[in-house]
Amino acid sequence: GCAPPGRSAALRARMEERLLSARFRYINEQLYTRTSREAARLFRTDPEAFHIYHRGFARQVGRWPESPVHRIARCLRRRPASLVVADFGCGDCTLASSVKNKVHCFDLVALSPRVTVCDMAQVPLADGSVDVAVFCLALMGTNLREILGEANRVLKPGGTLMVAEVASRFEDTRAFVGAMAQLGFKSVSKDLSSAFFHLLEFAKTGPPRHDLPLPGLRLRPCLYKRR
Ligand code: SAH
Repeated sequence: GCAPPGRSAALRARMEERLLSARFRYINEQLYTRTSREAARLFRTDPEAFHIYHRGFARQVGRWPESPVHRIARCLRRRPASLVVADFGCGDCTLASSVKNKVHCFDLVALSPRVTVCDMAQVPLADGSVDVAVFCLALMGTNLREILGEANRVLKPGGTLMVAEVASRFEDTRAFVGAMAQLGFKSVSKDLSSAFFHLLEFAKTGPPRHDLPLPGLRLRPCLYKRR
């Protein structure tokens, strides 16, 4: 057309931005509405999707006054650096690079050489081998019970489970904590001070107690608004 070249480049950039942002929202929705295995398949067949997801994720969390991963790192730095940590859904390994502890990093695609690529429902760690298990904005699959069962398996008795999740995902925090007790995790502390995320800390009391349904475990998907 007759628009000066500067303007049309800006327009194209804006369109591309919109497209990426729509793809991010789509992928994000897939992650919250499918099992972890299906998510693993999605990213294996389309690695580009993972990078689009991460870019969108970083942008969303970048708007928050504090990111939960930094809050968790602060908690860990108050404890002995000898504690072994497993980071389920580690993303770019910010946690591992913020603490001195040995951190096993698990994700579906390796954004860093530190990452062990696997589905978090099945991590290559021995039973009772870690002191702290972390899910920082990473409880995404619909098979939460299986995923948390895996964290239970790798944790030592008395070990710590840290869960940071978007505040609006909790329908009923008490019901969630109650369901966690059935899965062998006793609530130790709840940090509800951020308007954006809740940080819950649990201690492993033992293996999951039974396999009756646990409706309280359900978390709402975190769907981002169009911008
Ligand atoms: N914990 C990081 C990243 C959070 S984004 C942080 O706070 O910065 C959520 C991460 O969980 C993504 O990197 C996503 O790929 C990962 N994830 C989602 N489902 C997973 C699964 N089934 N197995 C392993 N990682 C998974």
